[in-house]
Amino acid sequence: MNSITKAVYDKMVAKDPNQPEFLQAAMEVLESLSPVMEKNPQYEPVLNAIVEPERLLQFRVPWYDDMGNLHVNRGYRIEMNSAIGPYKGGLRFHPSVNLSILKFLAFEQVFKNSLTTLPMGGGKGGSDFDPKGKSDAEVRKFCQSFMLELNRHIGPNTDVPAGDIGVGGREIGFMFGMYKKIKNEFTGILTGKGMEWGGSLLRPEATGYGCVYFVREMLKTRGEKLEGKTVLVSGSGNVSQYAIEKCIELGAKVVTCSDSGGWIHDPEGITTEKLSYIMELKNVKRARISEYATKYTSATYTPVDSALDYNPLWAVKADVALPCATQNEINGKDADNLLAGGVYAVGEGANMPTTPDGVEKFVKEGILYGPGKAANAGGVAVSGLEMAQNSARYNWTREEVDAKLDTIMTTIHKNCADTAAEYGMPGNYVAGANIAGFIKVAEAMLAQGLV
Ligand code: GLU
Repeated sequence: MNSITKAVYDKMVAKDPNQPEFLQAAMEVLESLSPVMEKNPQYEPVLNAIVEPERLLQFRVPWYDDMGNLHVNRGYRIEMNSAIGPYKGGLRFHPSVNLSILKFLAFEQVFKNSLTTLPMGGGKGGSDFDPKGKSDAEVRKFCQSFMLELNRHIGPNTDVPAGDIGVGGREIGFMFGMYKKIKNEFTGILTGKGMEWGGSLLRPEATGYGCVYFVREMLKTRGEKLEGKTVLVSGSGNVSQYAIEKCIELGAKVVTCSDSGGWIHDPEGITTEKLSYIMELKNVKRARISEYATKYTSATYTPVDSALDYNPLWAVKADVALPCATQNEINGKDADNLLAGGVYAVGEGANMPTTPDGVEKFVKEGILYGPGKAANAGGVAVSGLEMAQNSARYNWTREEVDAKLDTIMTTIHKNCADTAAEYGMPGNYVAGANIAGFIKVAEAMLAQGLV
């Protein structure tokens, strides 16, 4: 960091030292922006403002379980930045959710949304509610109670939430229904809606497909293709499922996936048929990935061993890694294992899945490393396309949306690569994404007199 970025970071720490994830995300961006500040001192006030949310909402969410017991969870919405469009970003329902995690996600979202080429600001929200193990009725009651409060803070032209970990089509449906009842309007207030009631084709696939398109573009810079490559995927939710699907389509072999209980290794590769089984397991039965190894004897299942300081999934020999589970799932040791196992391309389907020492190793080694805010921007990009279709009261075909997604991911890749080269760091997608994402927002904030 230089003196300007360090001063901003020090102020953040002094104000609130107890927000490790947010400080981690901010530190990475500030480090990347140091060379920009040398050239453009007019951005200094922007930098001071951009690390502070425009608005931060916290509320209580009471709901009754099936036994009639009252539970009170915490709900949040962080409206981080609206310089280039309405606040846009997902809702996460997970017991780990707290302000630090949501601020890091909202902060990342600002730069990610800026990179998509679409007019979207950044936000994030969620709750410490855990949908795991809850009945449909309990999830419905929670979602309705959550929206009963959230509705007054959002709107199709102000703040448009979507899904994230723990919030899929089911939860979006329950929240959309409640919003509609309260406001008596049918608008694109949430994205990720069902296809028959305002959703966009390809939204479920978008993050996973987009991530693989980004990796395809990175490989192209070395004259390579995904075809024939061995790929490690973590997670088994929405992002992982469609990343696996696109890898199979492009001729790669995916040999791993996981959930919070453990991971499977299938050296023969996850086929289309096996992927359908994973989708049924996870999306319909809401069961554990361990069942995969019971059904397919080519695979082994290893439960999570919390005594280990690394994840053995990342020690499997491969060419490409797609972390699609959650933040900080690849630490320094995992990064070493990935490099030792031959991985030379990493596309982050999850948000900030690599710890700072892991990132440093990838960048130092000069591998193709696509950070989440660029590589997983396909999800929110198609959310932006869903908003556009809702405003026009029209639906594009699957082919039309896929072509737009592909163009957006290819453009993001080129923008990151060109920006990194312009600032003397060719091949450094971290710097490219942070700088390109920042400049657009900074210019808008200055033009609108927001600082
Ligand atoms: N939660 C997703 C993300 O991290 C998607 C957000 C959206 O579609 O608004 O980008």
